[in-house]
Amino acid sequence: MIVSNFDIAIIGAGPAGCSAALTLRNSNCSVALFEKSSFPRNKICGDGICDRSINTLKEINPSYLEEFLNTQKALRIKKAEIGYKNRSYSMDVTSFGYTCRRLDFDNFLFSLVQRDAKNVSVFQNCGISRVERTDNGFYLYSKNGEMFSTKMLLVCNGASSMIARELTGSKLDKSNMGVAVRAYYSGVKDLKNDTIELYFKKKYFPGYLWIFPMADGTTNVGFGCLVKDLKDDIRSIFEKWIAYDEKLRSRFAEAKSVSPLVGGLIPYNVDKFDCFGDNFCVCGDAANLIDPVTGGGIGNAMASGYYAAQVAEKCVLNGNFSKTETEKYSKMLQKRIGRDIHTRFVLTRLIMKHRWLLPVCLRLWKKGVV
Ligand SMILES: Cc1cc2nc3c(=O)[nH]c(=O)nc-3n(C[C@H](O)[C@H](O)[C@H](O)COP(=O)(O)OP(=O)(O)OC[C@H]3O[C@@H](n4cnc5c(N)ncnc54)[C@H](O)[C@@H]3O)c2cc1C
Repeated sequence: MIVSNFDIAIIGAGPAGCSAALTLRNSNCSVALFEKSSFPRNKICGDGICDRSINTLKEINPSYLEEFLNTQKALRIKKAEIGYKNRSYSMDVTSFGYTCRRLDFDNFLFSLVQRDAKNVSVFQNCGISRVERTDNGFYLYSKNGEMFSTKMLLVCNGASSMIARELTGSKLDKSNMGVAVRAYYSGVKDLKNDTIELYFKKKYFPGYLWIFPMADGTTNVGFGCLVKDLKDDIRSIFEKWIAYDEKLRSRFAEAKSVSPLVGGLIPYNVDKFDCFGDNFCVCGDAANLIDPVTGGGIGNAMASGYYAAQVAEKCVLNGNFSKTETEKYSKMLQKRIGRDIHTRFVLTRLIMKHRWLLPVCLRLWKKGVV
């Protein structure tokens, strides 16, 4: 039994899904947003909200950025301290953006959808377990036993999305899959409220250990790297690093973790955009859009949701959902984030092959050359 028909269905209400829903708020399309959890829900993250996230929010609606800054606890980041061996590189990062807890940031986006997108029916606690192709789009089956139909599908359900893999035919690329853990700490010494810290080791590159100050006085501390570079349990690498590192151990001597150490997947982009087909687009982590150098994905997730929604709206208007139409989404992505991803992908591969290049690149980065 079909519960409702929609023009556009979005699976997942993270940054990608909410950006898509917000982009469609003034359209004439009937939209459904399905989310397996209920908000506010937490997301394991470093909480670094980069400039692409901020710029996309502004593009969706300039007043949303103002509202974010006026209502959310966020720290403006102006500097980065990069540690490598015994050297420290300090640089201005005017484009980094903010730190803000994902619990708050994602809930902020979700609340905007609920408040402003009257054409979007929101289904919380409604995980989509299966989609089935029909002549006019898809049937969606929820874990609660309901069934919906849609002409256009935006798959935004994160790094573990089986639906994305089934639709695009892509396989889980284990060699480019990263993993990261993070915990919140109190009492970390010598923090600066406008400075993020990143610590590299050759063997884990592009992975790194991060120390991000948060507006509530806690610190988000984490470590991530490619799964294939892990020779030990990731939690133990992280804990040993902060406990024994010459520079960090005194700063963490009296620090206490105020949350469990938890982890998640990092699907690094490999300079490919397998993200469209007849009646569907895939966005954010489900399309492996994570930056190959920084491991950040919120900005690309939001940008991809924003572009996919524009293409989906046109498909509905023209009654044409063929892959020649949805390919326009992939082309927008290529144009807006493809060059960045390409440069960073090539740079990462180069450093991974010739690890001695890492300090050279850090020096060039400091001088603003790369
Ligand atoms: C430890 C760690 C640290 C990170 N640090 C940063 C950082 O500092 N900065 C940064 O930019 N990026 C960071 N990232 C990456 C960032 O978290 C992701 O790139 C970003 O969350 C992607 O957004 P998304 O909307 O694509 O997916 P998600 O944020 O994962 O959202 C997907 C949503 O879909 C829902 N969902 C899943 N399956 C279903 C289903 N079947 N039906 C309905 N709903 C479903 C989920 O509940 C979730 O709400 C980090 C990742 C990790 C693991």
